[in-house]
Amino acid sequence: MEITTREKYINTKSLQNVGPEPFTINPLEYFEKIKGRNTPIKLTLLDQKLMSGLGNIYVDEVLYLSKINPLTPTSLITLDQVKVLIKHSIEVLNDAIKAGGTTVRSYAPALGVSGNFQQKLHAYGRVDERCPTCNTLFKKIFVGGRGTTFCPHCQVNHNAPTLVAITGQKASGKTVISNYLRSLGEIVIDTDALAKSLYKDPEVIKLLEKTFNVSLSNEHGFDIELLKNYLKENPKQIKVLNSLIHPLVKEEMLNIIKNSTAKTLYFEIPVLFSHKINELFDYIIGVEVSLTRQMQNLEKRGDTLGINPDQMYLKNRHKLDYIIINDGSIEDLINKFKTFKVQYL
Ligand SMILES: [Zn+2]
Repeated sequence: MEITTREKYINTKSLQNVGPEPFTINPLEYFEKIKGRNTPIKLTLLDQKLMSGLGNIYVDEVLYLSKINPLTPTSLITLDQVKVLIKHSIEVLNDAIKAGGTTVRSYAPALGVSGNFQQKLHAYGRVDERCPTCNTLFKKIFVGGRGTTFCPHCQVNHNAPTLVAITGQKASGKTVISNYLRSLGEIVIDTDALAKSLYKDPEVIKLLEKTFNVSLSNEHGFDIELLKNYLKENPKQIKVLNSLIHPLVKEEMLNIIKNSTAKTLYFEIPVLFSHKINELFDYIIGVEVSLTRQMQNLEKRGDTLGINPDQMYLKNRHKLDYIIINDGSIEDLINKFKTFKVQYL
């Protein structure tokens, strides 16, 4: 805090580093200043040296209203988009000032007053609620360490593939959808196969053998039957195995995403809700079946239901963007998926 006079305050040293507010900024000058930056636009808007007035909450609002993805590299923002951003910045700030500010858990105004702009927030704090414009679930990510809420449908990131997870109950028909997509030339990553390929890595096997204190190799190398037998005798260790394998699967997935030039990447992934893997995705589809049908499907492939196979899925059902009930023919199932595709992609 500095004490100064009305005449001189604008020249105080600490204010020299603060950029103009959206109310007075010149869009072209702002555009010239930011266009060489590669940081995400969200962080540029938060940089008070360039433009002052927008904090974390209001930036999310402005980006949502401007239909711009928070991760968009600043260098790709056009002058027209800058104008739209400034227009919405002025609107959001004016509305917030009128409402007395935003009172949230971590912030409340002084003088005993309480703002109520939080009731008017479109995006901020609405994670897991549906976008009023398009009905997609809002997603939360971290941009430069700041919690960020956005709508993946209204604020498409054109510089990264759209990520779709196909999850659901065991033997519910996920693979039917994957195979249909592959027949169209789409890229579908089978995360079960990804997990299995980890067992080819001697370092992973060493880690498992050390953790469980048991040999998992025969004379030819790693033997999955030895692992299965061990887990049958020590079912509590399944959790330990998952806690070792799932983060490695997630890492592999991130590598695939980073190196992909596809427009859309699909992942068939039964273990979606482990280690926050679900948070990577723009859209999550859940495929469900009746118990009778599930048992029939399992029998066909010589499998059994096991203990609580769908517990994690059912517990996280509210995080799904779209649910497909597989209660008809294969054609019906594919048609239901097509409806999702038309609506969201
Ligand atoms: Zn939306």
